[in-house]
Amino acid sequence: RKPSSEWALHTTFYKHKPHARAVVHTHSMFCTTMAVLGEPIRAVHYVIGDAGAAEVPCAPYQLFGTEALAEAAMEVCGKSNAVLLGNHGLVCCGKDIKGAYGLACNLEYVAELQYRAMSIGKPNVLTEEQMAEVMVKFQSYGQPGAKKTGY
Ligand SMILES: [Zn+2]
Repeated sequence: RKPSSEWALHTTFYKHKPHARAVVHTHSMFCTTMAVLGEPIRAVHYVIGDAGAAEVPCAPYQLFGTEALAEAAMEVCGKSNAVLLGNHGLVCCGKDIKGAYGLACNLEYVAELQYRAMSIGKPNVLTEEQMAEVMVKFQSYGQPGAKKTGY
């Protein structure tokens, strides 16, 4: 079959993130809402730690299906396993498709929380120190011996 029009976007994750074995790209409502605002997804809930970073940055707008879009995404991605695409959506990766999909779902949850909090006030964002604690705890999260797909 013909590859996705976003093949360059998917490929750049495999090239630059050696642990990535699956990439998910979505136009999910709340992630895309943040992308329309040019706002990163912030640590308004500890679940964002699933992205491997305390913030999911937003790349500037580029035309869909272009290498410029893939380059812009990787330029701002840093150590995060996810990035928002300005006025477009979200792309994220995982060690398998279940992990990448789970991360996309968790980020949609955090983006919705951020949206709701911004609608009625100023969200309290967890500090780098608080998120560092989360990252340490995520390493031993879940049942011993259970296959981990996300955090
Ligand atoms: Zn798209």
